[in-house]
Amino acid sequence: MSKKTILVTGGSGFLGSWLCEKLLERNNDVICVDNFYTGAKRNILHLLDNHHFELIRHDITFPLYAEVDEIYNLACPASPIHYQRDPVQTVKTCVHGAINMLGLAKRLRIKILQASTSEVYGDPVIHPQVESYWGNVNPIGVRSCYDEGKRCAETLFNCYNMQCALPVKIVRIFNTYGPRMHPNDGRVVSNFILQALQNQDITIYGDGSQTRSFCYRDDLIEAMIRMMETPADVTGPINIGNPGEFTILQLAETIIELTGSRSKIIRQSLPSDDPKQRKPDISKAKEILHWEPVTPLREGLTKTIEYFDQLLKEDPEFCK
Ligand code: NAD
Ligand code: UDP
Repeated sequence: MSKKTILVTGGSGFLGSWLCEKLLERNNDVICVDNFYTGAKRNILHLLDNHHFELIRHDITFPLYAEVDEIYNLACPASPIHYQRDPVQTVKTCVHGAINMLGLAKRLRIKILQASTSEVYGDPVIHPQVESYWGNVNPIGVRSCYDEGKRCAETLFNCYNMQCALPVKIVRIFNTYGPRMHPNDGRVVSNFILQALQNQDITIYGDGSQTRSFCYRDDLIEAMIRMMETPADVTGPINIGNPGEFTILQLAETIIELTGSRSKIIRQSLPSDDPKQRKPDISKAKEILHWEPVTPLREGLTKTIEYFDQLLKEDPEFCK
């Protein structure tokens, strides 16, 4: 495998930091670009001494000049509470950020991968979700800054491919969890694990019958790298995620069992536009990337519980 210089935007975040690490292990030079909006220095501290790793503090809504061989565009807050905190900035990151990164890729004539999302399907009426489904998205709801921002980014990637023959790659990522999730990002897996480890009430929004499919981080990153390695004519979008589907109540019960917690389950109101069901059809990923997830939910949760248990001991302030 020839050595490349690879730019990872959002490289200090949950998925980005793990991607940087995996690309370094594969003998590449990695440039991590991040404005630390939701990312954490602690995620990449262990990489800072590596001579093949560089960190640039930069907001991708502004142009960036760099000489690289590939770009993974992950920069964007991903959890509902984070992307709803400054919705205008979320749209700018999705749209202006995509334009800036696509412009860089166009000048260099290099491959660029977009971390898109299952949120482009909105509250889906087709189940499981196939890539040909156009989705059911509220354009003016609380989630729309992210959903429509990501949809517009997909449009931009497709336009650069059609108009400039740029080799783009779009992956639609379904709920992914694992070590290095931000403890305060309000996502269901991190919330429930932290609540369970501290014997606090487990907060189910709504009646807990809504479903999600949870993919372990390592499986996800493997699929992303495989996508980047496909020939130029493979543009996607391709769904990546774990097709195992669980209700939120089942997730809560599994986490209580695995942690041996004394937590009680309580109900809180369901946020608006919360999708009722979500499960990827991964036939395309299987066929084109020869990939499918290998980590069962209980195994991935056990590793994630170990991580948060350690984090609570090492840095309780960070978990508040
Ligand atoms: P994260 O919030 O941990 O990471 C996002 C990173 O982007 C952070 O380090 C943040 O500081 C950085 N960032 C945000 N805005 C920026 C900007 N304008 N300029 C530079 N850096 C910026 O989230 P994550 O879970 O690691 O998600 C990474 C990507 O994957 C996101 O694009 C997200 O939409 C996508 N995704 C994630 C999931 C999931 O379940 N984790 C699901 C679907 C899609
Ligand atoms: N959720 C919940 N309790 C929590 C956090 C989330 O019941 O403490 C629910 C949320 O309403 C949604 C599901 O869990 O139905 C997944 O939420 P998350 O924010 O992790 O991701 P997304 O909704 O973007 O899939």
